[in-house]
Amino acid sequence: MKRVVIAGGGVVGISCALALQAEGHSVTVLEPGPVGEGASWASCGCIAVGEVVPLSQPGMLMKVPGWLLDPEAPLSLRPASALGLLPWFARFTANSIPSRMRAIATDLARLTFAATADFKAQLEDIGAPELLMERPVIKLFDDERDKATMGAAFDLACELGCTIDDISGQEAHEIDPAIAADFKYASVLRDWSFVTDPKRLVQVLMETFVQRGGTVLPKACAGFERDGARLTHVLAAGGGRLAADEVVIAAGTASKGLARQLGVRLQLEGVIGYSTALLDPGVDLKHTVFYPSGGFGITPYDDALAVAGTVEFAGLDAAPKWRRADVLVSRARRVLPGLQTERRERRMGRRPFTPDTRPVIGRSGKLANLCFATGHGQLGLTLGATTGRLVADVIAGRPQEPGISAFGPDRFSS
Ligand SMILES: Cc1cc2nc3c(=O)[nH]c(=O)nc-3n(C[C@H](O)[C@H](O)[C@H](O)COP(=O)(O)OP(=O)(O)OC[C@H]3O[C@@H](n4cnc5c(N)ncnc54)[C@H](O)[C@@H]3O)c2cc1C
Repeated sequence: MKRVVIAGGGVVGISCALALQAEGHSVTVLEPGPVGEGASWASCGCIAVGEVVPLSQPGMLMKVPGWLLDPEAPLSLRPASALGLLPWFARFTANSIPSRMRAIATDLARLTFAATADFKAQLEDIGAPELLMERPVIKLFDDERDKATMGAAFDLACELGCTIDDISGQEAHEIDPAIAADFKYASVLRDWSFVTDPKRLVQVLMETFVQRGGTVLPKACAGFERDGARLTHVLAAGGGRLAADEVVIAAGTASKGLARQLGVRLQLEGVIGYSTALLDPGVDLKHTVFYPSGGFGITPYDDALAVAGTVEFAGLDAAPKWRRADVLVSRARRVLPGLQTERRERRMGRRPFTPDTRPVIGRSGKLANLCFATGHGQLGLTLGATTGRLVADVIAGRPQEPGISAFGPDRFSS
């Protein structure tokens, strides 16, 4: 049995905690925030199997001026942050060449195709199978041009094993009558599913961890003590010194600063997204639907309909621009004509994004007993349970699955 300290109790950190606890370790999680209100609270809730094509795509550089000029576009770059983001962006755009995109997609497919089984096993373990809704996701397109923007991504995802069916907009309306009848095309992503309440998911994971004897300290991780190439203690903000045989950094975007303290350079930025929970939506949507040209998805959670999306490059600490959330809501009636939007709650999440869209899972060569579990970008909810399983392998010293080394933290050092 090892004493494991985990910095961060979002969906990824708490999934690692449960997986390590199941192996008999004594686990402490440092989590300063309200449980369940990390980035996953603002998410679309999808178990996005086959969402493997990286964010960086050919022609990206040409689009940057447009991102700077239109603060309400689905993709935008805050001018004040542009300079600080340059090193990350340089690497990000380098990953848009077709051979790198394919390599990234292949690596992400390896992880996401395991996600549903891992997530179901996790839900079974915590006694909450109802948190997964096994219904495909529907993407909607106005016309040929609109649909063509997804063509290459869909082709690559299908080549890697994804099942995507093309249907007409009318058929989408028949599958889910809340959807407007006048879309020209739609695609049904058969492998996807969605979580019915992401905040509750993290809370139930945390409650189960505590019931089984795990410790949660409501404090931030502030630093570390080391003895040569081994960490010996984790320091909590405001006092507290925890002895550790193993340390896992799973603090979302804050992982970058914690890694820096240890001399590990993570290229990680927070890519902001917004979500508005509509509390009396007045429509009975059954599936998660995405409207890519509007830059948002709509998910029917247990207690609200969430309109979520946008990709805003704004650095790690930028304040939210709530106007962007409101723009999404105003566009959502295009998808759901009967939508009522009066009673609403807004949320913002920072997706922890690496420039190659791959998460960071594994050990750094710099420290013998440090493991990372961060950088999941738009896939943290999808890959939480899978990451927990992989981190448990790392800490047990079991042989890694083929291809997992592609997610190692030292790839940013060169
Ligand atoms: C609009 C939007 C839509 C999305 N849609 C999807 C989707 O459909 N499917 C999907 O899979 N993903 C989606 N995502 C991405 C997903 O939400 C993230 O990838 C995921 O939440 C990241 O989880 P995390 O645990 O790494 O980080 P977080 O959820 O941010 O958790 C990190 C935790 O670390 C804590 N912390 C911070 N600093 C410290 C410190 N110093 N010490 C200790 N703890 C600390 C924080 O309080 C926080 O609780 C979406 C995100 C957004 C914003």
